[in-house]
Amino acid sequence: MSRLLLVIGLGLLCPIPSGAQNTAPRIIAFGAHPDDAELEVGGVAALWAQEGARVKLVSMTNGDIGHFEMAGGPLAQRRRAEVQACADIFGVTTEVLDIHDGELMPTLENRRTVARLIRDWQADIVMSHRRYDYHADHRYTGELVEDAAVVVVAAFFDPYSPRLERNPIILHYPDDFQKPYPFQPDFVVGIDDAVEKKWDCIRAMPSQFADAGSWQARYLPDVPDGPVERREYILEVVKRRYEEQANRYRDRLIELYGEEQGREIKYAEAFEICQYGRQPTIDELKQLFPTF
Ligand SMILES: [Zn+2]
Repeated sequence: MSRLLLVIGLGLLCPIPSGAQNTAPRIIAFGAHPDDAELEVGGVAALWAQEGARVKLVSMTNGDIGHFEMAGGPLAQRRRAEVQACADIFGVTTEVLDIHDGELMPTLENRRTVARLIRDWQADIVMSHRRYDYHADHRYTGELVEDAAVVVVAAFFDPYSPRLERNPIILHYPDDFQKPYPFQPDFVVGIDDAVEKKWDCIRAMPSQFADAGSWQARYLPDVPDGPVERREYILEVVKRRYEEQANRYRDRLIELYGEEQGREIKYAEAFEICQYGRQPTIDELKQLFPTF
């Protein structure tokens, strides 16, 4: 089906009501591994939760090879407990699918699973990696979410889950990859008011951000030996990433928040509007997101 026909078809299936919705938004954010969604949208998720929005973070894989000294079921259980701790800190819901780390594939079965999760959550906003990220699990998470964009509104794609009344907005997390095109910072949100919750979540995931056998400890330079020093060192690296994100997209922050507030924001999370899903105006996003 051509893209134009698809858009017309979806418009007939699910006419878009005019005006912004009044109720708190429902958000589902997919990550490839148990820490991805927490990292990419943890600050905004905590802010949303404070405002009464319903947020669910989903890990597409169980993370069972994400360590250099442990693996398999015990690591999967440990990582699920870590993201549950984050969910408790943020005030959101979490789910980890039992798919092996490094083995996610864009199958019909997985598309059905993603579509069902979006439908069951009755999501207004769906988030995921872009399909150009470096890790196959990240790419396929992006692909599965984009492939679900059509069927989440189809009445009988999965007759046991309720179709969405209208297309959700799909937003992507940032990455540094330039081909086929670099990440576009369509919407950037200051997270300073919830940032301590984000750092507490990072501290609650030692398998990724503190252990000597974690990927971060293996690949970052000059990591200290002491466990507490190592954890705080890695946390500082994470903090810098979100500080750099605010600085890199400072012009966009000023456009969105105005000169004074836009300049004051220290930490930010950024999102690109996916060309599939509903195409929101910036004003609509401001009504859906916290801090505006
Ligand atoms: Zn990941």
